Amino acid sequence: MPAKYIFVTGGVVSSLGKGLAAASIGCLLESRGLKVNIMKFDPYLNVDPGTMSPFQHGEVFVTDDGAETDLDLGHYERFTHAKLSRDNNWTTGRLYEQIIAKERRGDYLGKTVQVIPHVTNEIKAAMKKVAQDVDVAIVEVGGTVGDIESLPFMEAIRQMRQELGRDHTTFVHVTLVPFIAAAQELKTKPTQHSVKELLSIGIQPDILLCRTDRFLAKDLKSKIALFCNVEEEAVITAKDVASIYEVPLNFAHEGVDTLVLKYLGIEAPNRDLSKWEDIVHRSYNPKDTVTIGIVGKYVEYEDSYKSLKEALVHGALAHNLKLQLNWIEAEGLETGDKSYESQLEDYDGILVPGGFGKRGIEGMLIAIRYARENKVPYFGICLGMQTACVEFARNVVGLAEANSSEFDPATPHRVIYKLRELRGVEELGGTMRLGAWTCKIEPNTLAHNIYGALEVSERHRHRYEFNREYEEPMTAAGLRISGSTPDGTYVEMIELPEHPHFIACQFHPEFKSKPLEPHPLFRTFIGAAYEYGQKRQTEKESTAVEMFHRPEKVGRR
Ligand code: GLN
Repeated sequence: MPAKYIFVTGGVVSSLGKGLAAASIGCLLESRGLKVNIMKFDPYLNVDPGTMSPFQHGEVFVTDDGAETDLDLGHYERFTHAKLSRDNNWTTGRLYEQIIAKERRGDYLGKTVQVIPHVTNEIKAAMKKVAQDVDVAIVEVGGTVGDIESLPFMEAIRQMRQELGRDHTTFVHVTLVPFIAAAQELKTKPTQHSVKELLSIGIQPDILLCRTDRFLAKDLKSKIALFCNVEEEAVITAKDVASIYEVPLNFAHEGVDTLVLKYLGIEAPNRDLSKWEDIVHRSYNPKDTVTIGIVGKYVEYEDSYKSLKEALVHGALAHNLKLQLNWIEAEGLETGDKSYESQLEDYDGILVPGGFGKRGIEGMLIAIRYARENKVPYFGICLGMQTACVEFARNVVGLAEANSSEFDPATPHRVIYKLRELRGVEELGGTMRLGAWTCKIEPNTLAHNIYGALEVSERHRHRYEFNREYEEPMTAAGLRISGSTPDGTYVEMIELPEHPHFIACQFHPEFKSKPLEPHPLFRTFIGAAYEYGQKRQTEKESTAVEMFHRPEKVGRR
């Protein structure tokens, strides 16, 4: 049977959670035994988000095949079992790059190359490609209806309805129903306008997901249904939630999956969402809190570390804990005195995430040294592994000027240097070491203990590597290399056996963590952090008791 399609568009404003909505619909359809795939079109002109600033774009999500993609693909992977690749995310830039290459080759046989049909045909071909071998393909169109840039995508999905018919295509439109405080009323006008905008390009939505901060009463739903020409049951309350993992449950409660199946004429078994219910139950009923400090830059913009934050949440959920996450601006630790201690002392665990460029590096080194010396659980990811190596080289091995050549090209001790395979490559787009690579784990290490395996596959996105010339002095001083590429070329993991939990990796495990399958590196980091926090608490309490019993010790007499 050919696949059926669900098209997800957005109206009124951006950031309404179209990606989460698409992912949640995918999750619901899987819970009914269907096979799904999800893709996103991004209407901007960059070829991919790889070279965009995290402030502009948020996180760059990396797939197994090494594509640098939109962060919504992270939601798709966390909520479903869809296998994502570069086929699952297209930008206008990448489509045009492909079309222009074809034109230069003469593939269009002298024809005038136009938006309709040439661009729209490429868009449709991209959708059909991800729809092979699945029951339902969910296609999210980035941007907001009415944007000039998204028109070719809107036209392409309109043509898909024309081509395949109503029982093979469903249009889901995500809109906003704001509560206006002055009038004490929910307003439907923005939704009406947004649907009108869609209609003007020939698309009649079937389902409206109305983002709102409160439940939509029946009469309000009837009003929207009437004005927007959809069934009343297809006006869905998409209420704000404290945990994103509640979205599939709320959609199920509103009957979104039943509606989609009805419109697409699919017979499917009843849903089983018990595992998601368990996750949500745990999110709202934690036994305790664990406090993690992330030391990095871009920290004031949480979207730049979306998968990281989620992976930490998964780790906390695995222990029935609530995650208290604090983002520490690395530069703020570079005070020149000991005042950083007061900024770091209250964390159960410290993490330095991935990043690029020199800013904040010295602050990260301060935080890592603090974690190493005070035996605070430390987890370094990518840049967090490189900085851990620099810190160790400087403060343990005694190479005071050790650095990464990314931050100081003239350093006499390039403990981290440019990947040998990338020497001479100056272009920025898609030139890093990207995607899934096998990592061989050393037996009897913390890494081995954590993974319970001697070979793992993890995703990468970096340009620099550990310089093996420093392996001898570093390992002699107590650093352990616990993971490498199978041929031994690249160092992938390091740890400090003398420390209760100090581990760092060159790859990004956060991309592979899911709420139902928390990544072992995050699960164990949170476990170690919680244990450390508990121990610290007990020590504090016993010191307090001691002081109470022997007041002379603190000079009270
Ligand atoms: N800037 C470092 C490199 O390119 C680290 C990259 C990262 O953390 N993703 O190797």
